[in-house]
Amino acid sequence: MKTLLPTSTAGSLPKPAWLAEPEKLWSDWKLQGEELAQGKQDALRISLHDQRLAGIDIVSDGEQTRQHFVTTFIEHLNGVDFEQREIVKIRDRYDASVPSVVGPVSREKPVFVEDAKFLRQQTDQPIKWALPGPMTMVDTLYDGHYKSREKLAWEFAKILNQEARDLAAAGVDIIQFDEPAFNVFFDEVNDWGIAALEKAIEGVTCETAVHICYGYGIKANTDWKKTLGSEWRQYEEIFPKLQASNIDIVSLECQNSHVPMELIELIRGKKVMVGAIDVATHAIETPEEVADTLRKALQFVDADKLYPCTNCGMTPLPREVAQGKLKALSAGAAIVRQEISR
Ligand code: ZN
Repeated sequence: MKTLLPTSTAGSLPKPAWLAEPEKLWSDWKLQGEELAQGKQDALRISLHDQRLAGIDIVSDGEQTRQHFVTTFIEHLNGVDFEQREIVKIRDRYDASVPSVVGPVSREKPVFVEDAKFLRQQTDQPIKWALPGPMTMVDTLYDGHYKSREKLAWEFAKILNQEARDLAAAGVDIIQFDEPAFNVFFDEVNDWGIAALEKAIEGVTCETAVHICYGYGIKANTDWKKTLGSEWRQYEEIFPKLQASNIDIVSLECQNSHVPMELIELIRGKKVMVGAIDVATHAIETPEEVADTLRKALQFVDADKLYPCTNCGMTPLPREVAQGKLKALSAGAAIVRQEISR
C-alpha cells in the first residue's frame, strides 16, 4: 500500500431506500429477479462513489450485494435448509431464528466472485472484500448434521478457501473474514477457531484480514458491552495465537471502546486496522477525535502497519451520518499523516 495510513471501512454501508428498508439490519430486498440484480449493482456504484468522495483509500462494495454478512453467503451453499429454522442463542448473547444444517455442506459455484469482478471494473483503487469467518458461520446456524462446531467450521473453512482463492484471482486486494465470535468463545478460538481461519486463507494470493469487533450498535450488543467492565481485555485471550498465525491484518474496535490500546502489542508484526469510528452512535466524530485514537494506536504499532478503519459495519446508520463519519475518518487520518511526515 503506497499511501501511509490508508483508510477503509470495516464492512457494510447504508443501502438506498429503494433497495432495502434503510436504518435496519438485515432488511428484506424491495426488488426481485433482474431488477434486484441491477439494483444491487447500482447501489454498489453509489456506495463506491460515497467512499471516494469521502477520500477512503481501500474501497469495498459497502456490502450492497448482501442482506446479511453471514447468511447471504450460506444461502448459496448446499446442505443448509433455510425453511427449517431453529431459535438458538448466538454469540452467547441473544436468541435468533437461524437456518439448519441438514447435510454435508458444499459450494456448487462461486458466491461473490461476479460482484467482486464488477467492483474491480469500477475502480483502480485497492479493494477489500468481506467474507464471514468459519466460527461465526457455525455460530449463526443450527447444526443438525455434523453435531460438532469444530467439524462444521472445518468444512466451512474449506469452502471459504475456494471462495477466497477465486476472489483473489478476480483482483481483490484484501479478503477480510468477519469473526465477531472470536470475542466470545476464547477456548474454541484457541482450540480450532484460528486453525479453521488459517485453513480458509491457505494458498490465497492476496492479503488477508480478520475483523474482530464487539458487534453492530444494536441493543443486545450495547447491553452486553455494559457488562464487560471498565477494561475490555477479550482480545488478550486470542491475540497470542493470532500473532503466530498467517493472517496479515487484524481489524479491531477501538473508538469509544474500553479496549486497552497496549493489547495491540500482543499482535506485534501484524498490520492493524484500527477502528476509529464508533458505529453505535449517530454523533459524528471530529477529525481530531479520530486523530487522537490513531495517535494512541501509533504508540503500539508502526505507522506503515496502521490502517485507520471504522469499528464495524454502518448499515443501520442514516446515510448522511455514515457519509459524515467516512469524511471524519479521512480527515483524522490526514492530520496524523501530516504529523508523521513532519
Ligand atoms: Zn464488526
